[in-house]
Amino acid sequence: MTFASLGLIEPLLRAIEALGYQTPSPVQVEAIPTVLKGRDLMAAAQTGTGKTAGFALPLLQRLIQEGPQVASNSVRALVLVPTRELAEQVNESFRVYGQHLPLRNYAVYGGVSINPQMMKLRKGIDVLVATPGRLLDLYRQNAVKFNQLQTLVLDEADRMLDLGFARELDEVFAALPRRRQTLLFSATFSDAIRQMAKELLRDPLSIEVSPRNAAAKSVSQWLIPVDKKRKTELFLHLLEERRWGQVLVFAKTRKGVDQLVESLQAEGIAADSIHGDKPQPSRLRALQRFKDGEVKVLVATDVAARGLDIDDLPLVVNFDLPIVAEDYVHRIGRTGRAGATGEAVSLVCADEVQLLAAIEVLTRQTLSRRDEPGFIPDHRVPQTDASGQVLKKPKKPKKPKEFQSGAGKPGKAKLGSWIDSDKPKVKAVRKAPGFGKANKG
Ligand code: AMP
Repeated sequence: MTFASLGLIEPLLRAIEALGYQTPSPVQVEAIPTVLKGRDLMAAAQTGTGKTAGFALPLLQRLIQEGPQVASNSVRALVLVPTRELAEQVNESFRVYGQHLPLRNYAVYGGVSINPQMMKLRKGIDVLVATPGRLLDLYRQNAVKFNQLQTLVLDEADRMLDLGFARELDEVFAALPRRRQTLLFSATFSDAIRQMAKELLRDPLSIEVSPRNAAAKSVSQWLIPVDKKRKTELFLHLLEERRWGQVLVFAKTRKGVDQLVESLQAEGIAADSIHGDKPQPSRLRALQRFKDGEVKVLVATDVAARGLDIDDLPLVVNFDLPIVAEDYVHRIGRTGRAGATGEAVSLVCADEVQLLAAIEVLTRQTLSRRDEPGFIPDHRVPQTDASGQVLKKPKKPKKPKEFQSGAGKPGKAKLGSWIDSDKPKVKAVRKAPGFGKANKG
Protein backbone atom coordinates (compact mmCIF):
# COMPACT_ATOMS: atom_id res chain seq x y z
CA MET A 1 0.00 0.00 0.00
CA THR A 2 1.35 3.44 -0.95
CA PHE A 3 0.12 6.98 -0.34
CA ALA A 4 -0.21 7.44 -4.12
CA SER A 5 -2.58 4.47 -4.36
CA LEU A 6 -4.85 6.15 -1.82
CA GLY A 7 -5.48 8.89 -4.38
CA LEU A 8 -3.40 11.72 -2.96
CA ILE A 9 -2.14 14.42 -5.31
CA GLU A 10 1.49 15.11 -6.14
CA PRO A 11 2.13 18.19 -3.92
CA LEU A 12 0.99 16.18 -0.89
CA LEU A 13 2.99 13.10 -1.92
CA ARG A 14 6.07 15.29 -2.19
CA ALA A 15 5.56 16.61 1.34
CA ILE A 16 5.04 13.11 2.75
CA GLU A 17 8.10 11.80 0.99
CA ALA A 18 10.24 14.58 2.44
CA LEU A 19 9.04 13.49 5.90
CA GLY A 20 10.18 9.94 5.23
CA TYR A 21 6.73 8.34 5.60
CA GLN A 22 6.90 5.19 3.49
CA THR A 23 3.65 3.38 4.02
CA PRO A 24 0.33 4.70 5.25
CA SER A 25 -0.64 3.63 8.76
CA PRO A 26 -3.82 1.52 9.20
CA VAL A 27 -5.91 4.52 10.19
CA GLN A 28 -4.62 6.42 7.14
CA VAL A 29 -5.50 3.55 4.80
CA GLU A 30 -9.11 3.77 5.94
CA ALA A 31 -9.47 7.48 6.56
CA ILE A 32 -7.78 9.01 3.50
CA PRO A 33 -10.06 7.57 0.74
CA THR A 34 -13.13 8.09 2.93
CA VAL A 35 -12.41 11.74 3.60
CA LEU A 36 -11.49 12.31 -0.06
CA LYS A 37 -14.94 11.04 -1.04
CA GLY A 38 -16.48 13.62 1.25
CA ARG A 39 -17.87 11.07 3.63
CA ASP A 40 -18.25 11.48 7.41
CA LEU A 41 -15.93 9.50 9.62
CA MET A 42 -15.85 8.34 13.18
CA ALA A 43 -12.51 6.94 14.31
CA ALA A 44 -11.36 5.37 17.53
CA ALA A 45 -7.70 6.26 17.33
CA GLN A 46 -5.31 7.78 19.77
CA THR A 47 -2.09 9.75 19.45
CA GLY A 48 0.61 7.67 17.82
CA THR A 49 -1.65 6.04 15.22
CA GLY A 50 -0.94 8.65 12.52
CA LYS A 51 -4.48 9.99 12.81
CA THR A 52 -3.46 13.62 12.17
CA ALA A 53 -2.16 12.85 8.68
CA GLY A 54 -5.23 10.61 8.29
CA PHE A 55 -7.50 13.65 8.28
CA ALA A 56 -5.10 16.48 7.34
CA LEU A 57 -3.89 15.07 4.00
CA PRO A 58 -7.29 14.37 2.40
CA LEU A 59 -8.72 17.53 3.89
CA LEU A 60 -6.02 19.67 2.26
CA GLN A 61 -6.70 17.91 -1.02
CA ARG A 62 -10.42 18.60 -0.87
CA LEU A 63 -9.79 22.23 -0.05
CA ILE A 64 -7.55 22.64 -3.10
CA GLN A 65 -9.89 20.75 -5.43
CA GLU A 66 -13.30 21.95 -4.26
CA GLY A 67 -14.96 25.09 -3.05
CA PRO A 68 -14.39 28.82 -3.46
CA GLN A 69 -11.42 30.97 -2.48
CA VAL A 70 -11.63 31.80 1.18
CA ALA A 71 -13.38 35.11 1.93
CA SER A 72 -12.25 37.54 4.61
CA ASN A 73 -12.86 36.38 8.18
CA SER A 74 -14.05 33.03 6.84
CA VAL A 75 -12.75 29.51 7.43
CA ARG A 76 -13.21 26.51 5.13
CA ALA A 77 -12.15 23.75 7.49
CA LEU A 78 -12.31 23.86 11.28
CA VAL A 79 -10.36 21.50 13.51
CA LEU A 80 -11.39 21.58 17.17
CA VAL A 81 -8.85 20.34 19.70
CA PRO A 82 -8.77 20.27 23.52
CA THR A 83 -5.49 22.04 24.30
CA ARG A 84 -3.23 24.72 22.95
CA GLU A 85 -0.31 22.30 22.66
CA LEU A 86 -2.36 20.05 20.44
CA ALA A 87 -3.58 23.08 18.47
CA GLU A 88 0.02 24.07 17.76
CA GLN A 89 0.99 20.54 16.87
CA VAL A 90 -1.94 19.92 14.52
CA ASN A 91 -1.45 23.32 12.90
CA GLU A 92 2.21 22.51 12.34
CA SER A 93 1.18 19.22 10.69
CA PHE A 94 -1.12 21.11 8.31
CA ARG A 95 1.69 23.55 7.53
CA VAL A 96 4.15 20.77 6.72
CA TYR A 97 1.74 18.58 4.74
CA GLY A 98 0.36 21.58 2.86
CA GLN A 99 3.67 23.35 2.19
CA HIS A 100 3.36 22.96 -1.61
CA LEU A 101 -0.27 24.11 -1.72
CA PRO A 102 -1.51 27.71 -1.75
CA LEU A 103 -3.66 27.33 1.39
CA ARG A 104 -3.54 29.23 4.67
CA ASN A 105 -3.68 27.52 8.04
CA TYR A 106 -3.62 29.00 11.53
CA ALA A 107 -4.17 28.04 15.18
CA VAL A 108 -6.15 29.97 17.80
CA TYR A 109 -6.33 29.20 21.52
CA GLY A 110 -6.75 30.96 24.85
CA GLY A 111 -4.10 32.16 27.26
CA VAL A 112 -2.61 34.54 24.71
CA SER A 113 -3.76 37.92 23.40
CA ILE A 114 -6.81 37.76 21.12
CA ASN A 115 -5.95 40.82 18.98
CA PRO A 116 -3.24 39.29 16.81
CA GLN A 117 -5.60 36.37 16.19
CA MET A 118 -8.35 38.74 15.06
CA MET A 119 -5.93 40.48 12.70
CA LYS A 120 -4.77 37.20 11.23
CA LEU A 121 -8.33 36.01 10.62
CA ARG A 122 -9.19 39.08 8.56
CA LYS A 123 -7.72 37.69 5.37
CA GLY A 124 -9.59 34.42 5.79
CA ILE A 125 -8.08 31.06 6.73
CA ASP A 126 -8.49 27.76 4.87
CA VAL A 127 -7.78 25.53 7.87
CA LEU A 128 -8.36 26.91 11.34
CA VAL A 129 -7.26 24.79 14.31
CA ALA A 130 -8.91 25.99 17.50
CA THR A 131 -9.69 25.26 21.11
CA PRO A 132 -13.46 25.70 21.69
CA GLY A 133 -13.38 28.56 24.21
CA ARG A 134 -11.22 30.93 22.19
CA LEU A 135 -13.05 30.07 18.98
CA LEU A 136 -16.32 31.13 20.59
CA ASP A 137 -14.79 34.40 21.80
CA LEU A 138 -13.68 35.13 18.25
CA TYR A 139 -17.04 34.14 16.82
CA ARG A 140 -18.94 36.35 19.24
CA GLN A 141 -16.76 39.26 18.19
CA ASN A 142 -17.47 38.57 14.51
CA ALA A 143 -13.81 37.82 13.88
CA VAL A 144 -14.68 34.45 12.34
CA LYS A 145 -17.53 33.36 10.05
CA PHE A 146 -18.59 29.88 9.17
CA ASN A 147 -20.68 30.33 6.02
CA GLN A 148 -17.90 28.86 3.84
CA LEU A 149 -17.23 25.93 6.16
CA GLN A 150 -16.86 22.60 4.29
CA THR A 151 -15.42 20.32 6.95
CA LEU A 152 -15.47 20.06 10.74
CA VAL A 153 -12.92 17.87 12.53
CA LEU A 154 -13.22 17.00 16.21
CA ASP A 155 -9.84 15.79 17.38
CA GLU A 156 -9.60 14.08 20.76
CA ALA A 157 -13.31 14.59 21.30
CA ASP A 158 -13.25 12.61 24.57
CA ARG A 159 -10.70 14.97 26.00
CA MET A 160 -12.74 18.02 25.03
CA LEU A 161 -15.65 16.65 27.03
CA ASP A 162 -13.38 15.69 29.95
CA LEU A 163 -12.15 19.27 30.06
CA GLY A 164 -15.71 20.55 30.30
CA PHE A 165 -16.07 21.98 26.79
CA ALA A 166 -19.53 20.44 26.14
CA ARG A 167 -21.42 23.72 26.26
CA GLU A 168 -18.90 25.58 24.09
CA LEU A 169 -19.02 22.75 21.59
CA ASP A 170 -22.80 22.87 21.37
CA GLU A 171 -22.65 26.57 20.73
CA VAL A 172 -20.06 26.12 17.98
CA PHE A 173 -22.07 23.31 16.35
CA ALA A 174 -25.16 25.50 16.31
CA ALA A 175 -23.24 28.18 14.40
CA LEU A 176 -22.00 25.84 11.64
CA PRO A 177 -23.72 25.17 8.31
CA ARG A 178 -25.69 21.94 8.36
CA ARG A 179 -24.34 20.82 5.02
CA ARG A 180 -20.76 19.88 5.73
CA GLN A 181 -18.43 16.96 6.25
CA THR A 182 -17.75 15.95 9.85
CA LEU A 183 -14.87 13.82 11.14
CA LEU A 184 -14.73 12.71 14.74
CA PHE A 185 -11.62 11.28 16.39
CA SER A 186 -11.59 10.02 19.94
CA ALA A 187 -9.33 7.71 21.91
CA THR A 188 -12.26 6.39 23.92
CA PHE A 189 -15.97 6.11 23.18
CA SER A 190 -18.13 6.94 26.17
CA ASP A 191 -21.90 7.24 25.93
CA ALA A 192 -21.52 11.03 25.72
CA ILE A 193 -19.21 10.71 22.70
CA ARG A 194 -21.55 8.26 21.01
CA GLN A 195 -24.43 10.64 21.54
CA MET A 196 -22.42 13.51 20.12
CA ALA A 197 -21.47 11.41 17.09
CA LYS A 198 -25.07 10.43 16.58
CA GLU A 199 -26.12 14.05 16.47
CA LEU A 200 -23.30 15.31 14.29
CA LEU A 201 -22.39 12.60 11.82
CA ARG A 202 -24.28 11.46 8.74
CA ASP A 203 -23.82 7.83 7.70
CA PRO A 204 -20.23 7.76 8.95
CA LEU A 205 -17.59 5.18 8.18
CA SER A 206 -16.60 3.89 11.57
CA ILE A 207 -13.05 2.71 12.11
CA GLU A 208 -11.17 1.44 15.08
CA VAL A 209 -7.41 1.20 15.40
CA SER A 210 -6.16 -1.14 18.10
CA PRO A 211 -8.63 -2.29 20.69
CA ARG A 212 -10.36 0.49 22.49
CA ASN A 213 -8.63 1.61 25.66
CA ALA A 214 -5.66 -0.62 25.04
CA ALA A 215 -2.25 0.89 25.49
CA ALA A 216 1.02 0.25 23.64
CA LYS A 217 2.22 -3.37 23.57
CA SER A 218 5.89 -2.53 23.63
CA VAL A 219 5.71 -0.67 26.93
CA SER A 220 6.62 -2.61 30.03
CA GLN A 221 4.73 -1.27 33.00
CA TRP A 222 5.22 -1.73 36.70
CA LEU A 223 4.77 0.09 39.96
CA ILE A 224 6.65 0.71 43.16
CA PRO A 225 4.57 0.93 46.35
CA VAL A 226 5.80 3.87 48.45
CA ASP A 227 4.60 6.17 51.21
CA LYS A 228 3.25 9.46 49.89
CA LYS A 229 5.75 11.63 51.74
CA ARG A 230 8.71 9.67 50.38
CA LYS A 231 7.91 9.90 46.66
CA THR A 232 10.41 12.66 45.87
CA GLU A 233 13.14 10.85 47.77
CA LEU A 234 12.35 7.63 45.94
CA PHE A 235 12.37 9.35 42.55
CA LEU A 236 15.78 10.91 43.24
CA HIS A 237 17.04 7.54 44.42
CA LEU A 238 15.82 5.77 41.25
CA LEU A 239 17.23 8.45 38.99
CA GLU A 240 20.67 7.90 40.43
CA GLU A 241 20.55 4.22 41.27
CA ARG A 242 19.18 3.10 37.88
CA ARG A 243 21.09 5.71 35.92
CA TRP A 244 17.96 6.88 34.21
CA GLY A 245 18.46 9.08 31.14
CA GLN A 246 15.72 11.45 30.03
CA VAL A 247 12.46 11.02 31.89
CA LEU A 248 9.01 12.45 31.34
CA VAL A 249 7.29 12.64 34.72
CA PHE A 250 3.58 13.14 35.33
CA ALA A 251 2.29 14.74 38.50
CA LYS A 252 -1.30 15.39 39.49
CA THR A 253 -1.26 19.11 40.25
CA ARG A 254 0.56 22.23 39.14
CA LYS A 255 1.83 22.63 42.69
CA GLY A 256 3.11 19.06 42.71
CA VAL A 257 4.90 19.70 39.42
CA ASP A 258 6.60 22.83 40.76
CA GLN A 259 7.62 21.17 44.02
CA LEU A 260 9.23 18.25 42.25
CA VAL A 261 11.06 20.50 39.80
CA GLU A 262 12.37 22.57 42.71
CA SER A 263 13.60 19.47 44.56
CA LEU A 264 15.33 18.19 41.43
CA GLN A 265 16.96 21.52 40.68
CA ALA A 266 18.14 21.75 44.28
CA GLU A 267 20.00 18.49 43.63
CA GLY A 268 21.59 19.97 40.51
CA ILE A 269 19.42 17.99 38.09
CA ALA A 270 18.33 19.79 34.90
CA ALA A 271 14.54 19.78 35.28
CA ASP A 272 11.73 21.85 33.80
CA SER A 273 7.95 21.85 33.88
CA ILE A 274 4.91 22.07 31.66
CA HIS A 275 1.63 23.03 33.29
CA GLY A 276 -1.39 25.19 32.70
CA ASP A 277 -0.17 28.16 34.78
CA LYS A 278 2.78 28.67 32.49
CA PRO A 279 2.41 30.94 29.49
CA GLN A 280 2.45 29.16 26.16
CA PRO A 281 5.91 30.33 25.03
CA SER A 282 7.54 29.01 28.17
CA ARG A 283 5.74 25.66 27.81
CA LEU A 284 6.98 25.34 24.26
CA ARG A 285 10.46 26.37 25.35
CA ALA A 286 10.54 23.73 28.10
CA LEU A 287 9.47 21.09 25.57
CA GLN A 288 12.11 22.18 23.08
CA ARG A 289 14.83 22.09 25.72
CA PHE A 290 13.74 18.60 26.66
CA LYS A 291 13.78 17.49 23.01
CA ASP A 292 17.23 19.04 22.59
CA GLY A 293 18.47 17.07 25.58
CA GLU A 294 19.22 20.16 27.67
CA VAL A 295 16.61 19.11 30.21
CA LYS A 296 16.88 15.66 31.75
CA VAL A 297 13.60 15.55 33.63
CA LEU A 298 10.44 17.16 32.24
CA VAL A 299 7.58 17.24 34.73
CA ALA A 300 4.05 17.79 33.42
CA THR A 301 0.38 17.72 34.31
CA ASP A 302 -1.97 15.68 32.12
CA VAL A 303 -3.77 18.58 30.53
CA ALA A 304 -0.58 20.41 29.63
CA ALA A 305 1.06 17.28 28.25
CA ARG A 306 -1.83 16.44 26.00
CA GLY A 307 -0.72 16.45 22.40
CA LEU A 308 2.98 16.72 23.14
CA ASP A 309 4.79 15.03 20.31
CA ILE A 310 7.78 13.39 21.90
CA ASP A 311 9.11 10.32 20.16
CA ASP A 312 11.53 7.63 21.27
CA LEU A 313 11.14 8.37 24.93
CA PRO A 314 12.48 5.40 26.87
CA LEU A 315 10.83 6.17 30.18
CA VAL A 316 7.66 7.69 31.59
CA VAL A 317 7.24 8.00 35.35
CA ASN A 318 3.87 8.47 37.00
CA PHE A 319 4.87 10.39 40.09
CA ASP A 320 1.14 10.47 40.89
CA LEU A 321 -1.49 8.29 39.29
CA PRO A 322 -3.95 10.21 37.12
CA ILE A 323 -7.44 10.97 38.43
CA VAL A 324 -8.95 9.86 35.11
CA ALA A 325 -7.86 6.32 34.23
CA GLU A 326 -7.77 7.06 30.46
CA ASP A 327 -4.97 9.53 31.12
CA TYR A 328 -2.80 6.61 32.17
CA VAL A 329 -3.08 5.21 28.64
CA HIS A 330 -2.24 8.63 27.16
CA ARG A 331 0.71 9.05 29.49
CA ILE A 332 2.35 5.75 28.74
CA GLY A 333 1.63 6.30 25.02
CA ARG A 334 4.55 8.73 25.20
CA THR A 335 6.98 5.87 25.35
CA GLY A 336 7.52 2.75 23.28
CA ARG A 337 6.67 4.58 20.05
CA ALA A 338 8.00 3.81 16.60
CA GLY A 339 8.75 0.22 17.52
CA ALA A 340 11.04 1.20 20.39
CA THR A 341 10.49 -0.46 23.72
CA GLY A 342 9.57 1.74 26.62
CA GLU A 343 9.08 1.57 30.31
CA ALA A 344 6.37 3.15 32.42
CA VAL A 345 6.93 3.22 36.16
CA SER A 346 4.32 4.38 38.65
CA LEU A 347 5.07 5.46 42.22
CA VAL A 348 1.94 4.45 44.06
CA CYS A 349 0.91 5.28 47.64
CA ALA A 350 -1.92 3.80 49.69
CA ASP A 351 -4.21 6.79 49.00
CA GLU A 352 -4.10 6.00 45.29
CA VAL A 353 -5.37 2.45 45.47
CA GLN A 354 -8.76 3.26 43.93
CA LEU A 355 -7.07 5.05 41.03
CA LEU A 356 -4.82 2.04 40.56
CA ALA A 357 -7.80 -0.30 40.52
CA ALA A 358 -9.53 1.86 37.87
CA ILE A 359 -6.42 1.79 35.65
CA GLU A 360 -6.13 -1.96 35.95
CA VAL A 361 -9.78 -2.42 34.99
CA LEU A 362 -9.43 -0.09 31.99
CA THR A 363 -6.24 -1.69 30.70
CA ARG A 364 -7.37 -5.20 31.66
CA GLN A 365 -4.19 -6.10 33.48
CA THR A 366 -2.74 -6.21 36.96
CA LEU A 367 0.30 -3.99 37.18
CA SER A 368 3.39 -5.74 38.40
CA ARG A 369 4.62 -4.53 41.82
CA ARG A 370 8.28 -4.20 42.67
CA ASP A 371 9.31 -3.18 46.15
CA GLU A 372 12.30 -0.88 46.31
CA PRO A 373 14.61 -1.82 49.19
CA GLY A 374 14.68 0.98 51.74
CA PHE A 375 11.33 2.35 50.56
CA ILE A 376 8.87 -0.33 51.68
CA PRO A 377 5.83 1.75 52.70
CA ASP A 378 4.47 1.94 56.26
CA HIS A 379 1.04 2.41 54.71
CA ARG A 380 0.64 -0.69 52.62
CA VAL A 381 -0.99 -0.35 49.18
CA PRO A 382 -3.86 -2.88 49.24
CA GLN A 383 -3.71 -5.58 46.58
CA THR A 384 -5.74 -4.86 43.43
CA ASP A 385 -6.49 -6.70 40.23
CA ALA A 386 -8.08 -6.15 36.82
CA SER A 387 -11.51 -7.11 38.16
CA GLY A 388 -11.63 -3.79 39.97
CA GLN A 389 -11.56 -5.43 43.35
CA VAL A 390 -9.52 -3.81 46.03
CA LEU A 391 -8.66 -6.39 48.61
CA LYS A 392 -9.23 -4.61 51.88
CA LYS A 393 -6.33 -4.05 54.17
CA PRO A 394 -6.45 -6.84 56.70
CA LYS A 395 -7.72 -5.69 60.07
CA LYS A 396 -5.00 -5.26 62.62
CA PRO A 397 -4.45 -8.69 64.07
CA LYS A 398 -5.05 -9.02 67.76
CA LYS A 399 -2.01 -11.23 67.91
CA PRO A 400 1.49 -9.87 68.47
CA LYS A 401 3.01 -7.74 65.68
CA GLU A 402 5.38 -10.31 64.17
CA PHE A 403 2.40 -12.17 62.67
CA GLN A 404 1.32 -9.30 60.38
CA SER A 405 1.32 -10.05 56.69
CA GLY A 406 3.55 -8.43 54.04
CA ALA A 407 2.92 -6.72 50.68
CA GLY A 408 1.23 -8.01 47.53
CA LYS A 409 2.43 -10.33 44.84
CA PRO A 410 3.50 -9.24 41.39
CA GLY A 411 1.75 -9.84 38.08
CA LYS A 412 2.91 -8.93 34.56
CA ALA A 413 1.60 -6.98 31.62
CA LYS A 414 2.63 -5.32 28.38
CA LEU A 415 0.92 -2.93 26.04
CA GLY A 416 1.66 -1.47 21.77
CA SER A 417 1.12 1.09 18.99
CA TRP A 418 0.72 0.89 15.21
CA ILE A 419 4.21 1.92 14.17
CA ASP A 420 5.16 -1.15 16.12
CA SER A 421 6.07 -4.20 14.05
CA ASP A 422 2.83 -6.06 14.70
CA LYS A 423 0.33 -3.49 13.55
CA PRO A 424 -3.02 -3.44 15.29
CA LYS A 425 -5.95 -4.55 13.22
CA VAL A 426 -8.14 -1.86 11.76
CA LYS A 427 -11.77 -2.62 11.72
CA ALA A 428 -13.81 -0.77 9.16
CA VAL A 429 -17.48 -0.95 9.94
CA ARG A 430 -20.10 0.65 7.75
CA LYS A 431 -22.13 1.79 10.69
CA ALA A 432 -21.43 1.70 14.35
CA PRO A 433 -24.23 0.43 16.61
CA GLY A 434 -26.66 3.19 17.28
CA PHE A 435 -25.72 5.11 14.14
CA GLY A 436 -28.72 4.06 12.10
CA LYS A 437 -30.35 7.44 11.93
CA ALA A 438 -28.45 10.32 10.53
CA ASN A 439 -29.32 13.45 12.35
CA LYS A 440 -27.04 16.16 11.24
CA GLY A 441 -26.86 19.75 12.42
P1 AMP B 1 -0.34 11.15 15.33
O1 AMP B 1 -0.98 9.88 15.74
O2 AMP B 1 -1.10 11.87 14.30
O3 AMP B 1 -0.05 12.00 16.54
O4 AMP B 1 1.08 10.82 14.65
C1 AMP B 1 2.11 10.17 15.37
C2 AMP B 1 3.48 10.33 14.70
O5 AMP B 1 3.58 9.46 13.56
C3 AMP B 1 3.77 11.73 14.19
O6 AMP B 1 5.07 12.07 14.64
C4 AMP B 1 3.73 11.60 12.68
O7 AMP B 1 4.67 12.48 12.07
C5 AMP B 1 4.13 10.16 12.44
N1 AMP B 1 3.50 9.55 11.25
C6 AMP B 1 2.24 9.74 10.80
N2 AMP B 1 1.99 8.98 9.71
C7 AMP B 1 3.12 8.28 9.45
C8 AMP B 1 3.50 7.32 8.45
N3 AMP B 1 2.65 6.91 7.52
N4 AMP B 1 4.74 6.83 8.50
C9 AMP B 1 5.61 7.22 9.47
N5 AMP B 1 5.34 8.12 10.43
C10 AMP B 1 4.10 8.64 10.45
